[in-house]
Formats: sequence, structure tokens, C-alpha cells
Amino acid sequence: MWYCNSKGADDVLIARDVQHIKRRDIVLKRELGEGAFGKVFLAECYNLSPTNDKMLVAVKALKDPTLAARKDFQREAELLTNLQHEHIVKFYGVCGDGDPLIMVFEYMKHGDLNKFLRAHGPDAMILVDGQPRQAKGELGLSQMLHIASQIASGMVYLASQHFVHRDLATRNCLVGANLLVKIGDFGMSRDVYSTDYYRVGGHTMLPIRWMPPESIMYRKFTTESDVWSFGVILWEIFTYGKQPWFQLSNTEVIECITQGRVLERPRVCPKEVYDIMLGCWQREPQQRLNIKEIYKILHALGKATPIYLDILG
Ligand code: AMP
Repeated sequence: MWYCNSKGADDVLIARDVQHIKRRDIVLKRELGEGAFGKVFLAECYNLSPTNDKMLVAVKALKDPTLAARKDFQREAELLTNLQHEHIVKFYGVCGDGDPLIMVFEYMKHGDLNKFLRAHGPDAMILVDGQPRQAKGELGLSQMLHIASQIASGMVYLASQHFVHRDLATRNCLVGANLLVKIGDFGMSRDVYSTDYYRVGGHTMLPIRWMPPESIMYRKFTTESDVWSFGVILWEIFTYGKQPWFQLSNTEVIECITQGRVLERPRVCPKEVYDIMLGCWQREPQQRLNIKEIYKILHALGKATPIYLDILG
């Protein structure tokens, strides 16, 4: 988990206590995915809410933790407890004693946004009677704008809490029913999407394709560098989940970004939306759009009739 509080831990306004969930109240059902720190499972959780006696949840399990991993886990649980917003994945609590360490989150039934975009793009195929067929249900412009403005809304909240995320990308967002999208980073997407990260020195893996020049060159991460990453998220949405700079190697990407090249406008992207991307990719962090402005523009575009948006221009 990369959340960091740029003002220092003392400035978190409401410090809620981490909720403890009993191990016997969690019944694992199946694996949802695997990451650098452990596995994610679909599970049933009993006695979580006064209205439902059992609920579907997603649990992150950390097996055989070292002392340092236990500390990170505790810190992450405290941060997550204090981040509550309709576009941040809901964190219910932990089983923090014994092994494995478990974190309990709301279950988002369509999984991560990158997979979702690919499954709803022009290249998506499904098997019908064992034969590959074109999957229907390609995302339209208004759905793409809806997805983007929900992520922007979550980011407005993170910025208001002085949290710098550092790893915003569609693989770290989750999709629930009715196209509800939330920022839901478990900090363990690294294994599944290992080609999205670049190893520098020992264990540090950096999502360089989503990073602005100042983060690549000086490891400077700020609310403005998160805005740059949001521009890349927009590009991912409008390419149905393509990897940014997919045609380039990691070292070529570093060269390209530090020299000031930016991603091209996707084929289905209106000029108005590409202008937002360009506003996120200003070299000077202070010149970038701020996330509140971005949210407002996207929200307004989402309301405009698609016919007024300039897809060809
Ligand atoms: P992560 O390592 O956090 O990216 O999680 C691995 C995979 O588990 C993701 O690619 C998602 O498809 C799935 N996953 C993670 N969290 C959830 C959740 N809260 N609800 C549903 N699926 C999830």
C-alpha cells in the first residue's frame, strides 16, 4: 500500500480505531487473485453488519509475516480505517492476531478495472460452445466518462485528506454492480501485473509508465504526480485497458517521459477528454490541472449529449 500522508500522521483529523473481526466469522470461498504480499479471497463474513447476518467480502491474507510486514500491515490498516468515501473501497477491519494476517474489504463483483476494460473492449472474445466469439457490450463514451469521474471523485477526497497515493492505475481500481468504480489498492497488484512495474535496485518496483518526470528522476511524489497518473488512467480507459507505451521497453519509457513525450490521443477519445490528459501531463507540476477542476470538467462532459463531443476533431 502506497498511501502516504504528506502532512504527517499527526494531522489525520479523525483517528478511528481499527475494527477487529473474529477469525471464526470468516469463511473462505474461492481465490480471487494473488499479489506480492499474499492472496485475495472471496469470503463470507458473519456478524459484520447489524442488518445482514452474513456478507460477501474480499479478504487479503498475509501468510508467515515477518515482524516488519506485521508493522506495515498494522499501519496500512490504520490508514485504511481512516479513509472513508463512496469511491474508495470500503475497509471493514482485520484479524490481526495469529497467522495469516487478514484484511477484510467490501467485495466488488466485477474485479479490477483493467480486466474489466479489456473485457469490454473491441478485442474481447468469449467462448460460446467452445468457439471464440466477439464479446458484445463494448463500453460507450458516457460509460467511460462515468468511470473516469468516479475515480476523480475518489481522488478529490484523497487530496482533501492530504494523501498521496503514488500508484494510481486502472489495475488498482475495482468495479462493482451498476458500473460503480472505487479506488481499491491492496498494494499487492505487483505480481499479477509485474510488467507494469520497473525494478530499481533491490526490491523497489516503480510503476514508471504512470509516473511524471519528477517522480522518475527525483522520486518526488505529490498530489500533482497523482494527477499525472490520473491522465494515464484516462488514457487506459479510452484504450480499453492497453498498457501505456506498450510498444516500448522500460528503459525506453524512462527516456521518453523524461524527454517530454506524451501518450497519443486514443482513437475513440474526444478532443475535450484528450485536453484533460494534456492538462495532467504538463511538465511543471504547478501547471497541471487540479483534481477538483478535472472532476468538474468530467462531470459536465458526462452530462453533455455525446453528439456535442468532438470525437473526430
Ligand atoms: P490485487 O492484488 O489487490 O490487485 O488483487 C488481486 C485481484 O483480486 C484483483 O485483480 C481483483 O480482480 C481481485 N480483487 C481484489 N480486491 C477485490 C475486491 N475488493 N473485490 C473483488 N475482487 C477483488
